[in-house]
Amino acid sequence: MNAATTPAGEAVNASGLALLREPVPERLISKLPKGTKAQNECPPEQKINCPVCGGWHHPKVRHLDYVGHAAATHLLLDADPHWNWEPMGYTADGLPKFDEGGGLWIKLTVCGVTRLGYGHADKKAHMDAGSREKEVIGDALRNAALRFGLALELWSKADIHGGGSERDAWYQAAITGIYDAPTVGELKARLAAAIDEARARGDQEAEDDFLVAHANKMATAKRPPAPPPSTSAAQRQRQAPPPPDLDEDDVPF
Ligand SMILES: [Zn+2]
Repeated sequence: MNAATTPAGEAVNASGLALLREPVPERLISKLPKGTKAQNECPPEQKINCPVCGGWHHPKVRHLDYVGHAAATHLLLDADPHWNWEPMGYTADGLPKFDEGGGLWIKLTVCGVTRLGYGHADKKAHMDAGSREKEVIGDALRNAALRFGLALELWSKADIHGGGSERDAWYQAAITGIYDAPTVGELKARLAAAIDEARARGDQEAEDDFLVAHANKMATAKRPPAPPPSTSAAQRQRQAPPPPDLDEDDVPF
């Protein structure tokens, strides 16, 4: 086949399936705001017109990189103009068969190789007829394309718990400080400082974790040795590597 081109028409060296393993060009990457619960539920007057994504949300919301449906389609076409998808099953009327939860399993074929994908989307109020189904199909396509490596690097960069490295460093230091507090007075002071900072950051998840860490510390303070931070469930979850099949709810691809 001919050398592949980017959507801007520039020639690229990789072609076919190898093209899907290439890093996605920056201009095809979109920004998805991922706010904490507190940020998402903040009063309207605290929200700003975001210069990063153009959305309307709390100023400290983090953004994750993702590849949208149109960009994914561009990349699939560049890899194989004859790419195709089909549902795993059909209804009696010959339409794609959605599962009981409204999700859809598909087969995506690129350069003669077929891999499965799954998509889903929540039903939202005031949704146009059919728009949920279209969202499900797009989600399934991107999920299946991931199995070909499309935008894989964004997955490994994305923090599935919604934080970045600066946030992680702060969080780890704060929670370690709580567990390592030498006295009850110091523990109180460290907890208060950590919670103040979490609130300033609009980081409800961290605030909850600090309260849990404090409770654990108080419960075990008289039973030496004190558990290291990594023994709390929240810590184990935070430090666990991303599962091989990431939950589409958490990572925007
Ligand atoms: Zn934004």
